[in-house]
Amino acid sequence: MSLVGIGYDSHRLAGARRLIIGGVEIPHERGLEGHSDADVLAHAVIDALLGAAGLGDIGSHFPDSDERWRDADSIELLEVAVAMVRGEGLEPVNVDCTVLMEEPKLSPHRQAIRARLAHALGLREQRVNVKASTGERIGFVGRGEGVAALAVASLEPR
Ligand SMILES: [Zn+2]
Repeated sequence: MSLVGIGYDSHRLAGARRLIIGGVEIPHERGLEGHSDADVLAHAVIDALLGAAGLGDIGSHFPDSDERWRDADSIELLEVAVAMVRGEGLEPVNVDCTVLMEEPKLSPHRQAIRARLAHALGLREQRVNVKASTGERIGFVGRGEGVAALAVASLEPR
């Protein structure tokens, strides 16, 4: 038996913020706005894990209204989500994800992101796939107004 979950997230790009994608800080003149570090990819992966385990969504476990999560390191939230999944007797098998971002280019950082996510998930890097796409200059991604991320995760009983 294996269980599959989907995750989606988006954040607005703004000045005077750091751009953190999958736990890796990417040099850029703008970053992502949000209550935590606004790591759009980590948030999508968390929702995919929680979804596969039937544990609801990121907002129910790490609410914006909770001061504990202000400027939180989302990789730490991901590690908490992995522990919750394990608490259900489940173990991540693989994660596949796509980052939708017009600029900057994700490719120079893709290996570092993969390694960071794999470590947090307790997976070999081959089991964590990170893809990138642009918005083709249309929509909020294409106009550079924000960044979105999609993820799927599968789990198996431990
Ligand atoms: Zn988010």
